[in-house]
Amino acid sequence: MASLLIKGGRVIDPATKTDAVMDLLVVDGRIAERRVPEKGRGAAPDGRVIDATGHWVCPGLVDMHVHLREPGQEHKETVATGTAAAVAGGFTAVACMPNTSPVNDNAGVTEYILKKAAEANLARVYPIGAVSRGQAGEQLAEIGELHQAGCVAITDDGRPVATAMLMRRALEYAGMFGMPVIEHCEDQTLKGDGVAHEGFHASALGLRGIPGQAESIMALRDIALAELTGGVVHIAHMSARQTLDAVRWGKSRGARVTCEVTPHHFVLTDEMLRAPIAYDTNVKMNPPLRETADRDAMLAGLADGSVDVIATDHAPHHYDEKRVEFDHAPFGITGLETAVSLCFDRLVHGGIISLSRLVELLSVNPARILRVPGGSLAEGAPADVSILAPELHATVSAAMMRSKSKNTPFDGWKLRGGVAATIVGGRTVYVNDAIDLKI
Ligand SMILES: [Zn+2]
Repeated sequence: MASLLIKGGRVIDPATKTDAVMDLLVVDGRIAERRVPEKGRGAAPDGRVIDATGHWVCPGLVDMHVHLREPGQEHKETVATGTAAAVAGGFTAVACMPNTSPVNDNAGVTEYILKKAAEANLARVYPIGAVSRGQAGEQLAEIGELHQAGCVAITDDGRPVATAMLMRRALEYAGMFGMPVIEHCEDQTLKGDGVAHEGFHASALGLRGIPGQAESIMALRDIALAELTGGVVHIAHMSARQTLDAVRWGKSRGARVTCEVTPHHFVLTDEMLRAPIAYDTNVKMNPPLRETADRDAMLAGLADGSVDVIATDHAPHHYDEKRVEFDHAPFGITGLETAVSLCFDRLVHGGIISLSRLVELLSVNPARILRVPGGSLAEGAPADVSILAPELHATVSAAMMRSKSKNTPFDGWKLRGGVAATIVGGRTVYVNDAIDLKI
């Protein structure tokens, strides 16, 4: 009987309305018992103990928007390196996007990803299938086959679902299997060949702009189609304040719409296009960093409950691919290993949201939306546990990251809060050696 005692941590488990110092006994991969700490009852049956005093003990964090790049782009990331980055970032599970090569639009690719995840044996991996064959935006993929093989949602992420009719069918079919359609909201005619947010800073640098409405227009279409079909649409990486208004409107009408925000969209603005480094390709992502009013709207949405999920949109690219002119660089930054520190520093220590709200955004809600296990530390639940260190002072180091790619704009940032240890199915898969857990 494999067991582990997580002692003395502050257990924050919104699913059971718990916020208290407790010991957590894990047996055979599940939460066996939660109890008030007692002197003398210090050990698990086979003696393994983590001293979590001063730390938070949370249900495992779930990142529902990650690009693992395998198969096809293993020079950027693999399932093994991506899940190593995930557990170092405090995530016990990730959902991976289908824009691989070949595209994850059939059971063969889904099974390949799951096999790689089993070999890596770190974070749990939930594949997301394509909406359309080859993500070409024409014919619907075999949604039932993808679901059967283990996909938990469908999306054409990297691009939007091409037409209203295809989105209607996607919502109808995905709904039959209880899956959400995750949408990369972008009107491609309005985006054109834009590379940055349309505004003062892009104009000053002579960069072609993408207005926030390129995103909100598509969100409005999809919310209307969710109403028509009764399907569930999840708006990925929301960046524009107009989109947040659209989501609030949809929710107020009873449409089945949820949404996510990335750390970079609630921390950064398009001022980063000019300073500290002008034309830094590590601030080029899609959707782009927007202006201060948009960033502040995202913070307000996180605080008032309009935003359901924080997801990273971890998008690794090789150094050489990013080391080109701004116009030519690929969109995207890594995110798995900076998300928790950014959330602590800006949202919790910044007084924007409570501890339990953070756990809802990073664990409870993504697990619920994807209908995967997790999001709770109730007795009997899988022992996926993230031990977080709210007072850790850490300096972000791209060079030290587990991800194969280093394209982060946060290199060198000093942040308060981080990850102490990550436990998946009762196994300790990551320990931060900067913290003494007396293991
Ligand atoms: Zn996207």
